[in-house]
Amino acid sequence: VVSLVNGKKAFGSNEVLKDISLTVNAGDVLAVIGPSGGGKSTLLRCMTLLETLDAGDLSYGDLVVCASNADGRAVYSDKATIAKAKTRFGLVFQNFNLFPHYTVLQNVTDALICVQKMPKGEALTRGRDLLAKMGLADKEAMVPCDLSGGQQQRVAIARALAMNPDVLFFDEPTSALDPELTREVLKVIRDLADEHMTMVIVTHEMGFARDVADQIIFMDGGVIVEQGPASELINNPQHDRTRAFLANYD
Ligand code: ATP
Ligand code: MG
Repeated sequence: VVSLVNGKKAFGSNEVLKDISLTVNAGDVLAVIGPSGGGKSTLLRCMTLLETLDAGDLSYGDLVVCASNADGRAVYSDKATIAKAKTRFGLVFQNFNLFPHYTVLQNVTDALICVQKMPKGEALTRGRDLLAKMGLADKEAMVPCDLSGGQQQRVAIARALAMNPDVLFFDEPTSALDPELTREVLKVIRDLADEHMTMVIVTHEMGFARDVADQIIFMDGGVIVEQGPASELINNPQHDRTRAFLANYD
């Protein structure tokens, strides 16, 4: 579904991604864990085209987003290809990022109507179905600020799902939420995993990562230190840095 080979990104002299390669196959749930500043958000931002890679090959299925040239610099594809690639993924942030003046239903259907040019009636039906699936059927006419953080995050997930992406990226989807609201958001993500939605999830919820992810990547200092099957990586880490990091949890 998505592959990144030898991805690199620096901000000035700060090499944030040093040489990252990862592949996400259809139906995979990949969790990315690691200490603050390790480059997890930058990785997601590069993969979702919010940042450009300095070097590396990124593709969504058969669509090449960028490829390294002979000098090792990432060369991005033409606008039409990039625009098409952007329809293949959804992104859910820590802070929900909903449109504050739109209703819940408008938040979910806006891109369907304005970007995808779906007929309005069809978009509203799809939006309502997704809100029902997120347990928000009765909230469609409300504005985001009248919802709890957990409800807002579920609206953000419904909005990301509306475009029918091949893969959903989450950047610490629950870190702005208290434990109870965290639970309700994690349940929704767990349900999506049960339906074999392809997902890449940056999280500090180790129990959740172990239970829901197929694979876990431990990132530190801009490199993938260790990657493995979820329970194996959590229960039996191979590297000292992974062990030291995991010792902060449980
Ligand atoms: P956290 O767990 O705190 O979210 P993270 O693993 O997501 O951390 P990043 O946000 O990717 O880490 O940051 C990695 C490094 O990149 C940090 O040193 C950060 O200061 C730097 N960085 C990130 N974005 C930018 C930017 N736009 N400009 C300059 N430096 C940046
Ligand atoms: Mg981050």
